[in-house]
Amino acid sequence: RAKEEGRGRCCVYDPAMDAEREERNQLEIDLRRAIEQNEIMVAFQPVVDAQHLKLRGVEALARWTRAGHGPVRPDIFIPVAERSGLIDQLGLCVLRTACEALVRWPHLTLSVNISPGQFRDPSFVGRVADLLRDTGTEPSRVTLEMTETYFIQNPARARETLDRLKAIGVKIALDDFGAGFSSVGYLRQFGFDRMKIDRSLVSAADAGGRAVDMLQATVALARSLDIPVTAEGIESADQATALRIAGCDQLQGYLFGKPMPACEIDILNGEEPLARLSSMA
Ligand code: C2E
Ligand code: MG
Ligand code: MG
Ligand code: MG
Repeated sequence: RAKEEGRGRCCVYDPAMDAEREERNQLEIDLRRAIEQNEIMVAFQPVVDAQHLKLRGVEALARWTRAGHGPVRPDIFIPVAERSGLIDQLGLCVLRTACEALVRWPHLTLSVNISPGQFRDPSFVGRVADLLRDTGTEPSRVTLEMTETYFIQNPARARETLDRLKAIGVKIALDDFGAGFSSVGYLRQFGFDRMKIDRSLVSAADAGGRAVDMLQATVALARSLDIPVTAEGIESADQATALRIAGCDQLQGYLFGKPMPACEIDILNGEEPLARLSSMA
């Protein structure tokens, strides 16, 4: 914290800070052990096509139940993994588990989140290629989701890595669009295969007015660049309707299904459209 406040300054001693640091260290130790002992689980969230509301794909999301503490949210443990260098191992382990599960769903696509730190590892692209080959996964069925952070930090390197990933045949989506700076420049420059609109933009539109205009304009922007759009975090039928009208081709959110174990995806798969939504289809 002293660092954030600038050089040449110091802070009043606070015993709570020691406790906080202690807890962070312990979290990291437990996470490392969980990764080594294969305790990181993967949940799958349904992605449906906007036209027929049929299941088309799944997004893989890491899940960790910390012994003695219960479930820890990814918003907590992913940053710990990023800071401690565990993200490379964790990320590849999620990708492998997800690709192995994909064998059960020949007609579905798979999205997996990638952290900037993984992207920075020079052996990343080679590892992904090996993993896809080992699991017999058709690369074009796999989309890697990235947020804009890395593209802003290091556009030249990011561009190079993106091109190498595209050369092995995987797709790249820009995740959480609308949550950060979300520059139009990045959208054009990097040739993303898909854009994912952040939940914050979707839920803001409930209030109507300007927020709805912004949502529509954002989808229109992506479409003008021929980039298909997935809307995230859809919880209500009204939101789904608005985003279908705006021109999203894929929808994702609790309305269609929360992240779930693979065996529950087995059950949804084949329903057409998802039963609970048949009145909307
Ligand atoms: P994300 O990639 O944007 O994933 C979507 C998040 O929104 C997930 O949270 C999902 O459960 C949640 N969500 C989806 N629909 C709804 C909805 O209708 N309502 C609400 N309230 N939430 C919804 P989750 O699983 O907690 O993950 C949070 C973030 O952690 C992810 O955001 C992603 O950035 C990161 N993450 C998760 N798994 C991994 C992983 O394996 N690797 C990396 N690098 N990041 C991961
Ligand atoms: Mg994502
Ligand atoms: Mg997102
Ligand atoms: Mg996110």
